[in-house]
Amino acid sequence: MQTRAGDGGAVRHIALLAPQVIERIAAGEVIERPASVVRELIENALDAGATSVRIEVREGGLRLIRVSDDGTGIASDDLELACQPHATSKVRDLDDLTHITTLGFRGEALASIAAVAEIEIASAADASGLAAVLTLSPGHTPERSVVSRPRGTMVTVRQLFADVPARRALLRGPAGESARVAAVVRGYALAHPAIRFTLIADGAIALQTGGDDLPHAVTAIYGADVARSMLPIGPLDVDGATLEGVVSARGVDAPDRSHVLLVVNGRPVANKALLAAMEAGYRPLFRKGRHPLLLARLALAPDALDVNVHPAKAEVLLRSEQALAAALRAAIHDTLGAAPKSLRMQPAESPTAGFAQAVQLRLPAARRRRGLLLGERRAGYRAGLPADDEQPAERLPELEAIGQLDDTLILARAPGGHLYLVDQHRAHERILYETLLRQAPPAEHLNAADAVDTVRSGQGASQGAGQLLLMPVLVELTPTQARLLNARLNELAQMGLECQPFGGSVFLVRSLPSLPVAPTDPADLARALAQDAAEDADDWRDHLRISLACRSAIRRGQPLTNAEQAALLSSLRDARTPAVCPHGSPLLLRYSKGFLTRAFEW
Ligand code: ADP
Ligand code: MG
Repeated sequence: MQTRAGDGGAVRHIALLAPQVIERIAAGEVIERPASVVRELIENALDAGATSVRIEVREGGLRLIRVSDDGTGIASDDLELACQPHATSKVRDLDDLTHITTLGFRGEALASIAAVAEIEIASAADASGLAAVLTLSPGHTPERSVVSRPRGTMVTVRQLFADVPARRALLRGPAGESARVAAVVRGYALAHPAIRFTLIADGAIALQTGGDDLPHAVTAIYGADVARSMLPIGPLDVDGATLEGVVSARGVDAPDRSHVLLVVNGRPVANKALLAAMEAGYRPLFRKGRHPLLLARLALAPDALDVNVHPAKAEVLLRSEQALAAALRAAIHDTLGAAPKSLRMQPAESPTAGFAQAVQLRLPAARRRRGLLLGERRAGYRAGLPADDEQPAERLPELEAIGQLDDTLILARAPGGHLYLVDQHRAHERILYETLLRQAPPAEHLNAADAVDTVRSGQGASQGAGQLLLMPVLVELTPTQARLLNARLNELAQMGLECQPFGGSVFLVRSLPSLPVAPTDPADLARALAQDAAEDADDWRDHLRISLACRSAIRRGQPLTNAEQAALLSSLRDARTPAVCPHGSPLLLRYSKGFLTRAFEW
């Protein structure tokens, strides 16, 4: 659906536009921030017929922006001309302006970039393996060199706005600019799923698509869970235009519109009427303040729209805007209305909401906990039973599993004929929690709820790298959470929870902390952990461990073989605090032989 030069890969020569054409071109500031540079360079790569576009930014693009493609390249003799204002290979005369088939047409991007930054263009227009390099720096004479490079173009931009402090002052920090760059790349990657896009931010891959179809691009960008929840829209014919897209089912949503995308003839655009129509289509079906992931692609005849209305080509005028708006609205509404609410993604929200409560409830319990440890061993006998005054040994005795009660409690016998009831979920939670605690750096034990003074296993701070997720999981946080998470990324990575900023308040979870048990729903776990890891509390690390343990532990209601029961009891015996789950609730009850004798009046 995207339109291109369609020149079969031949290099088209660049020429200066005639004054009467220049007059008719929407003028204004093209380069406002790093993301505008990235946008222009991606468009150039696509116009050149690239099948693969690689974008690299450092420090949000302020330090470096580099876009490489495998397109037609620029003829060596044309390099200087390409950087002149109003020099383009895409438009020649007034007539061309009425049916633009390329993303660029004004011949201004390279010139505008060269005016505010140092720009280096390395381009090979043939298969000779040699690329001509032109370096332009404001106030310096142009330099030429040659490097070896396959066919294609690589544009490197450094020192952006170095001499334009007013412009620099309007920028956000590197993180904010990176987010904008990521959003731009995401837009073009979704608009052109057949092209391979790679975004590398500060040395790490932030986004990568395989150059396949739209479902694959959605999976690569948002993860398999989100991709599975996407519903197809269209294709529909509206007044000769083709309309198609995807929308996430109810239940999969975001707190803002940053994943609502309108693409017209291969160009992500902000057409107010159409965006409003899109929102009107999903609004009745989404909770207030929530927005779906939505991509609508329109393919129109080049003369059915005017892209020449906005300097940065962000707006377009459409001839049959009203008909298209009505069709978009109806298509989105019908698609969503016909599909059941996505249950898969529901847990991402409800347990988190519930869990926030749990955290609050947990705090007083955590404070009580150390006192509870001793008290609790008696506390188990409260419920109207005769008091058991026989103190158990400090360490849990060897327990022999008798069986399970309702797949919930393990009944166990201790030497001497004492009976133990063990809550299987809480016991496993305790075991997993202590495993995680042992992996924490020693200094952190001071803050941990259980303040382990000696590390029992002696394995010390074995920092396991996490288990890589097959598909990274996308997590949307609030801006406050995102700030907290950003400050903790290194530490989380050491814990095995690798989160990667993905623009705005969105993160990709790439790995989970290693645990002896495989999580049943890794994506759900990833989302929950990211939320916990962004908690606004000093003891967030401990909460994260508790959460991880809780979510990975065997559930109540799960049948266990005798061997599994025995293994659980034996690990529990090795636990430092075997009677209390990490949330502070009792996990075992003991009925001594003496107690049983008295109670039964034997
Ligand atoms: P426009 O894209 O509007 O033509 P630009 O300033 O972006 O203007 O680029 C000027 C010219 O340089 C383009 O018309 C094109 O011929 C050439 N060009 C720029 N980038 C590339 C690229 N990545 N591959 C091939 N040609 C390019
Ligand atoms: Mg261009």
